Amino acid sequence: MTFGETPALPADAPTLVGWKRYTVLMVRFISLFLILLVVSGFSPDQRTISMISPEKTRSVIDKMTAKFGTEHKARIENGAVRVGELWRKEDGSEKDYEDFCLTEFIADPAGLDKTFSRLEKNFEVLQGHLHQISRALREPLDLDIGPPLPIDHMFAKYSPFAHLEEDFFGNKIAFVMILNFPYFTLDQKLSLGENWDRKQWAYAKLGDMFTSRVPADVRQKRSAISVEADNYVSEYNVYMGNLLTADQKTLFPPDLKLISHWGIRDELKAQYAKPDGLERQRIIYRVMQRIIDQSIPKIVVNNDKYRWAPEPNLVYEKRNAGLEKVTSEPEKQVRYEQLLNKFKAEQMLDPYVPKAPTLIERRFNEDRQIPEKEVEKLLLAVVSSPLRQKVAQLIEKRLGRKLEPFDIWYDGFKARGAQAPEELDRIVRQKYPEVTAFQADLPKILQKLGFAGETAEFLSRHIVVDPARGSGHATGAEMRDDKAHLRTRATGGLNYKGYNIALHEMGHTVEQVFSLNRIDYYFLRGVPNTAFTEAFAFVFQDRDLDVLGIPSPGREERDALKALDTFWATYEIGGVALVDMKVWRWMYENPKTDPQQLRDAVMRIAREVWNEHYAPVFGVRDVPILAIYSHLIDGAMYLPDYPIGHIISFQIESYLKGKNLGVEMERMCRLGCLTPSLWMEQAVGTPLSTQPLLQAAEQAVGRVK
Ligand SMILES: [Zn+2]
Repeated sequence: MTFGETPALPADAPTLVGWKRYTVLMVRFISLFLILLVVSGFSPDQRTISMISPEKTRSVIDKMTAKFGTEHKARIENGAVRVGELWRKEDGSEKDYEDFCLTEFIADPAGLDKTFSRLEKNFEVLQGHLHQISRALREPLDLDIGPPLPIDHMFAKYSPFAHLEEDFFGNKIAFVMILNFPYFTLDQKLSLGENWDRKQWAYAKLGDMFTSRVPADVRQKRSAISVEADNYVSEYNVYMGNLLTADQKTLFPPDLKLISHWGIRDELKAQYAKPDGLERQRIIYRVMQRIIDQSIPKIVVNNDKYRWAPEPNLVYEKRNAGLEKVTSEPEKQVRYEQLLNKFKAEQMLDPYVPKAPTLIERRFNEDRQIPEKEVEKLLLAVVSSPLRQKVAQLIEKRLGRKLEPFDIWYDGFKARGAQAPEELDRIVRQKYPEVTAFQADLPKILQKLGFAGETAEFLSRHIVVDPARGSGHATGAEMRDDKAHLRTRATGGLNYKGYNIALHEMGHTVEQVFSLNRIDYYFLRGVPNTAFTEAFAFVFQDRDLDVLGIPSPGREERDALKALDTFWATYEIGGVALVDMKVWRWMYENPKTDPQQLRDAVMRIAREVWNEHYAPVFGVRDVPILAIYSHLIDGAMYLPDYPIGHIISFQIESYLKGKNLGVEMERMCRLGCLTPSLWMEQAVGTPLSTQPLLQAAEQAVGRVK
């Protein structure tokens, strides 16, 4: 678990229903666990990593129960087992483990509570200042304050957080926390959390802080493999100007070099706006197919020397007199070798994370805090929705042709602005000739968005506007004395695009200030995951013209287009995410696979998902296109975050429509980092759901021509 990013419960709050249920559950869970441990269910790896025998753990639990009382049994079992799982040789002998547990367990509720408060204060100091250091060291790269020095890049790579986990196991503070503040599995949080009060939630979040202990050399090995996979992806360029049609025509500007997959996909999308774009889209699609099945000639990857006709799959060398055919080897399976390496790298971590010993469990139960089954259900609700057929028909009508498989990237549901871009640039530049002008205007902007005067002043005092080197980003604080930073590009004054992005980043910073400075417990700060903060950012961004006082007619039309655009994008990326999830399941079921078998498995899975959810709409079977995403190779199952993000954002944005943004946003952000489903229930009154998206798209189909 990343240090301090996530999520406890007072063991001694016996009046609460949730806690009693937890006690019963925990006892059952522990007994089962011990049986498995003794009989055979424990992997040999784990037995060698932990040096505490199951018998020892059992006897320590008995001694602790005798010393502290049976009313603490659940908390004792949770703590003693977890400390045992993470205890290493360097921490001491089995006897030392026993002494530690018997000495450091805090039975007295008042003492436990004081310890909780101290941990809150100390972790805010630690994380707050270390974050401040990181941010300051990165400033030469992040801010538009002159060219960075070579040494700035070296400082930017340094992380003051890097040794915290090691230090806190070393000084045993982590063990005190683990021993006293129970860890709850996602299932337990979901079943018990609804009845927890705020403090119980804060305790549970504290219990999430140290769930793994990965040796430095394992981390290093893993990150070296990841770097290699990242390099493979970041150097996978296609020279578009060298692509030839079957009759040897070129279609793209000679210098156009694009990265796979996103560069070539965005080019495919851009072609919808061009009357003669179809031929280019078809050739890009052919390139994608050849990357997926690895029939792409090795020598055309990231290499400007050759011309390549993807359809017949022929390679030519450029000669003065013309083109000369050359023989070439296919890439074969390098792509899947990289994926397999990535799998092995993640697998190295498994034995060191006792509560989530597979990447699948870590991704769903720890990072997303939404069960895998639930994610799958949400995705299926979109990709199998009857609505896909209606939207597909609408797209066919708008394109004037039958759909082809690459039309999963149809990009035509975009609203056209009524204002000339130059005019908008002029208005914005005049208003904000430099970032300080934007900073000064924060309170007014917030009031225009619906925040009360006092709240607007409070927020503005906690947000610093900086000139960004890149397009813009937001970075929140980690302690209440610090401030959130809003970065926007402002060289020569803000232009309209910079202003539009600044409002997006402002949405992030307002969320960050509310969810830190106005939170009741430090360990509950933040939002459940990035989709939640993106939702607020989009709401701010969407109201940019209102804030400028420029009328933007056709809001209903714009909302309808947005619903269709989001639906179609979620339909596309939902399938991609399903492929990603199935591929990781397959790898864990077939850990001894080789790259070639893996390639076949990925293609089979991609075709199956296509045949089930896309073939009925597109009228063509066995298309592996959903496997083109590079994140499938280097992302370690990051892809499901995209469709979940669309669904969550849409749900929050729909709820906010017509309500006071200032009041509602503050109420929502003060919920903190509960599980996504509980957050959603308390924020908008319903659990995570695709309904708002599907309903809005359904209504939009009738409205958009
Ligand atoms: Zn954002």
